[in-house]
Amino acid sequence: SVQQSARDRLPRYVRVNTLKTSVNDAVDYLKRDGFCYQGQASRLEDLTLREKDFVKDLYLPELLVFSPKMDFHDHFLYKAGHIILQDKASCLPAHLLSPPPGSHVIDACAAPGNKTSHLAAIMENKGKLFAFDLDAKRLSTMSTLLLRAGVLCHQLANQDFLKVDPGNAQYKDVEYILLDPSCSGSGMVCLRDNTSHDQSEDQARLVSLASFQLRCLNHALRFPRLKRLVYSTCSIHSQENEDVVTACLQQNLNFRLVHLLPQWPERGLEPLTQCLRASTTKTRTHGFFVALLEKHKKSCLPCR
Ligand code: SAM
Repeated sequence: SVQQSARDRLPRYVRVNTLKTSVNDAVDYLKRDGFCYQGQASRLEDLTLREKDFVKDLYLPELLVFSPKMDFHDHFLYKAGHIILQDKASCLPAHLLSPPPGSHVIDACAAPGNKTSHLAAIMENKGKLFAFDLDAKRLSTMSTLLLRAGVLCHQLANQDFLKVDPGNAQYKDVEYILLDPSCSGSGMVCLRDNTSHDQSEDQARLVSLASFQLRCLNHALRFPRLKRLVYSTCSIHSQENEDVVTACLQQNLNFRLVHLLPQWPERGLEPLTQCLRASTTKTRTHGFFVALLEKHKKSCLPCR
């Protein structure tokens, strides 16, 4: 099918797990293993690779890019947790949130944990990473993934994020939240064939997802010390993306959008051009959306 071939043409992205190795050591290992390193990509076209060629990504420092045909599931580096197989777009949320080592962070809808492990790598395993998910089975997959990746700073909970109390003393130092809630998945190239063709059913599902996403977002903004929050979906529908963020900002006047990666080629739909979108055609990834919300600095209160 058309979708199948679009997926087959997407580059294969590999995130180097800096908790276990460095980007240069991974590159050297791959060169010794018969891959041909072509240097750092400087244009989108450089991500069109043949056979065993590979490059470093344009924007994401820990990301290596291979030809669509490559499969690393049986590779030593994957089995040893030195590399994580993660689409480029889904590396954006943790990269943009960028919590410093030692910070306290919440990953609100975390399983199976690729973004959690990316956050831990950025935090250099220092600080606290509270990760929640409603689905016990996905959480158990996540435990295995985090163990293999050498993540140590996390605390997993099989819990509804909407029921996590922002006033609880445990979370009093949380300054960063990553919110990647359940969505329609309409950006996933391989899933697009499976969507139902009953339009009213699709519409009802989107309305209910968007209401859940907005509730999660509003809830997340209630953590008292929160500074920055990344909201992401793998949906291409504005109802789950720009519309959710717009509604949230109208209800939370103390937060504003941060203008993300000026060089990134695909922006959020007008007027939310501070946000990023991703797609097979413009960014050579699955469809994706990312927004970064930041709390206003306390404005000076009028003196009495
Ligand atoms: N961030 C994950 C990653 O990068 O691997 C993917 C998260 S996936 C898009 C959304 C997750 O949200 C699912 O695992 C789902 O079980 C979980 N979820 C749905 N409703 C939830 C809720 N109320 N509280 C916590 N997690 C929830």
